[in-house]
Amino acid sequence: MSLSISLVGARGRMGRTIVELAPEQGLSIASALDTGDDLAAGLARGDVIIDFSFHEATAEVIAHAVRLGKPLIIGTTGHSLERRAALLKEAAKVPCVWAGNYSVGVNLLNALTERAAAVLSDDYDAEVVEMHHRFKKDAPSGTAARLLEIILAARQLGPEALRHGRQGVPGERTRREVGIHALRGGDVVGDHTVIFAAQGERIELTHKASDRAIFARGALRAAAWVSGRAPAVYDMQDVLGLGPANAAPTTVAAATNTASSAA
Ligand code: NAD
Repeated sequence: MSLSISLVGARGRMGRTIVELAPEQGLSIASALDTGDDLAAGLARGDVIIDFSFHEATAEVIAHAVRLGKPLIIGTTGHSLERRAALLKEAAKVPCVWAGNYSVGVNLLNALTERAAAVLSDDYDAEVVEMHHRFKKDAPSGTAARLLEIILAARQLGPEALRHGRQGVPGERTRREVGIHALRGGDVVGDHTVIFAAQGERIELTHKASDRAIFARGALRAAAWVSGRAPAVYDMQDVLGLGPANAAPTTVAAATNTASSAA
């Protein structure tokens, strides 16, 4: 019998894409939930819960998953550092995949960034640039936050090393800083570039998403993968068999968002 999904955020951009693509992955939608729906009743149906909604809804979704003992996929981004740490603890009580980006290409970009950061000394200035559609509410993106986290870990720097854009007279760039720049406009699904710039050469690693179907397919793949696993929080590296990244589980996502900007 095929797995069925309870989906939170079903009327959103990602939710609609997941509803459309579930059948091609052999999965069915047991309940399609959004604001105003009774989550307790809706989440009782279905084998796996998928959440692509809003960061303020995540605690409630996790609480239902734990109460029901159901596996959980979290795609929602924009949680604050403290919030995320608390949510991860709760989510670990069920089999859960939590990824700021479900695309295969971006998870490879993470692995390549980790490798580049390990090989290149801090003589190579690291900066991350991301661009998303005008409707995106949080910044920087969860994907950018993960890339930053990987770079910070490789350089043994903390979140205070981050520079969110620059203006005025910030002075000369130091070796102990990592820049992050969030561009917003139009219908851009998601572009991420990691730059390592030294005197005489520059390396740029770029991923461009042109269709949000890649995130939906990844999340559906994660849903099929997570069923029957031991309770723990996994990421897409686990689902794809890319091996664990050296960086600690995502904390920069939150550290880089102020509570108010993480809308
Ligand atoms: P969206 O604004 O188009 O859709 C969000 C939906 O969630 C809306 O229909 C909204 O009504 C609903 N919602 C809000 N609060 C809710 C609640 N309390 N209960 C139930 N439903 C609620 O956004 P989107 O572009 O579909 O993205 C959704 C989330 O997924 C965002 O956080 C986004 O950053 C994230 N995202 C993650 C990935 C990934 O790969 N992890 C990819 C794309 C988007």
